[in-house]
Amino acid sequence: MLSYDFLVPQRIIFGWGRRREVGRLGRTLGRRAFLVCGARREAIGTRLDEILAALNDEGIEPRPVTRLSHEPEVADVDRLAEELRRQEAAQGDFLLAVGGGAAIDLAKAAAAMAVNRESPTVKDYLENVGRDLKIAEPPLPVLAMPSTAGTGAEVTKNAVISCYDPPFKKSLRDDRLLPRIALVDPELTVTAPPNVTAASGMDAITQLIESYVSRKAQPIPQALALQGLTYAVPALVEAVENSHSQAAREAMSHAALLSGIALANSGLGMAHGVAAALGTHCRVRHGVACAVMLPAAIRANMECRRAEFARLGRHLFDRNADTTNAAAEAFLRGIEQLCDRVGVPRRLAQVGVAADRIPALVKSSRGSSMSGNPRELSDEELTAILEELL
Ligand SMILES: [Zn+2]
Repeated sequence: MLSYDFLVPQRIIFGWGRRREVGRLGRTLGRRAFLVCGARREAIGTRLDEILAALNDEGIEPRPVTRLSHEPEVADVDRLAEELRRQEAAQGDFLLAVGGGAAIDLAKAAAAMAVNRESPTVKDYLENVGRDLKIAEPPLPVLAMPSTAGTGAEVTKNAVISCYDPPFKKSLRDDRLLPRIALVDPELTVTAPPNVTAASGMDAITQLIESYVSRKAQPIPQALALQGLTYAVPALVEAVENSHSQAAREAMSHAALLSGIALANSGLGMAHGVAAALGTHCRVRHGVACAVMLPAAIRANMECRRAEFARLGRHLFDRNADTTNAAAEAFLRGIEQLCDRVGVPRRLAQVGVAADRIPALVKSSRGSSMSGNPRELSDEELTAILEELL
């Protein structure tokens, strides 16, 4: 029986240089744009100036409210929501996020918290921590412009929020958290340095693969995931080695966008489950954590998803593989080689994880991402997988 829901933003605008259309698009959302920037604000440089000029041209007042240089924490969201309330942000205003997944998720969360006041802290609205409050009032509209090609946060309905004391990394989730407009200009990514391009790209690839084989997999996201991988796998090395390659940057931005749509509708799996734990306990950045875990996640799910991995293997790496086994192995080998080519770490020790952290990692891996993993993994199995990766 075929039965599904499928959710995407009202508008997706994609294209090289199309950041200049932000004024025309923003005008449909409001007259004041509260600007949330990411760590790479200086690197975007004159392109950000063009964005501000385009807003002014349409009579929109840009108001810089924050700049974030790390993955968003509870305190960051609470502070920004408070600032938005102080400036009496209301319908008729919107948030403009220009940055990576961190800046975009911060904007999404603060857009909701600015108008939902049952608690002063977003913690009470996160999944499985605090009071488990629900978002009642519709969030302020968000226009998202990604400056990296990775998380796909411009098209997801959750915002990932961290806390280090006590340690957790959880989602604020509501269909209305979807940005109203995703404006994807791949040219904004050309100044991303090779290590950021590699880690973000591996995040997108992990999202495409995990959503493709997820136990919540669905037909539309699967079709998109297949196309996303077709773009990303051949382009990532070029994007890392030649940062100004328009073709490679377009391919990666498009793949990241599709990965966000796929994960928002199909869920993820073990690599993302453990990546959240690596972020909270060992401060490993999200893309790097996903890349380290991806080959192990493919191996752990090989038994129950061999046919799917074989399909990907034939499609991406070895058209002539003559058995399902050979094609599935070609897929795993191809992904491992890609990790090596773009220089992402392959072992947990390389990202500063010691053996004594493994019990805490196992315990904190059981979030919503893990619930999409194709099969149940016991604590013993997960422990063995992580020990093997040290
Ligand atoms: Zn991810």
